[in-house]
Amino acid sequence: MQDCIFCKIVKKELPAFIFYEDEFVIGFLDINPLTEGHTLVVPKAHYESIFDIDEEALQKIISVSQKISKRIKEALRVEGVNLINASGVVAGQSVPHFHFHIIPRKAGDEINLASWWRSKVKEVDKEKLKELAEKLKT
Ligand code: 5GP
Ligand code: ZN
Repeated sequence: MQDCIFCKIVKKELPAFIFYEDEFVIGFLDINPLTEGHTLVVPKAHYESIFDIDEEALQKIISVSQKISKRIKEALRVEGVNLINASGVVAGQSVPHFHFHIIPRKAGDEINLASWWRSKVKEVDKEKLKELAEKLKT
């Protein structure tokens, strides 16, 4: 897609530190890393978000994300990773070409994702959860 930054990176029209590439997927370093090795896993074809991505493309991205996570763990000696996708501006998506962030994690890295999460959770009664589950049944 014209004017899409990630499509341009895929086509090598914009520079990026690509360290994984196959027929369908690329993996490259985020230009504004949250931690060392912060990586973006991107389908070569343009999909905007989780809502329109082709199922097969998504499966490939997940599989490559696992490969890259293992490589990061081994090469950068990290203890964990967070995989994050933002779909929709309201969810924080700034580049409208589907991607997973792989964020390498080490003890003491001060990302504090889990404590931030715990600080935001809401109390909810079981009846409300039951209703919601009913509503969401497909
Ligand atoms: P989002 O906010 O959509 O979840 O994530 C987009 C990510 O793309 C951000 O973390 C941002 O730093 C990264 N990014 C934006 N433009 C470029 C670029 O030109 N090159 C690289 N390598 N990363 C980019
Ligand atoms: Zn694109």
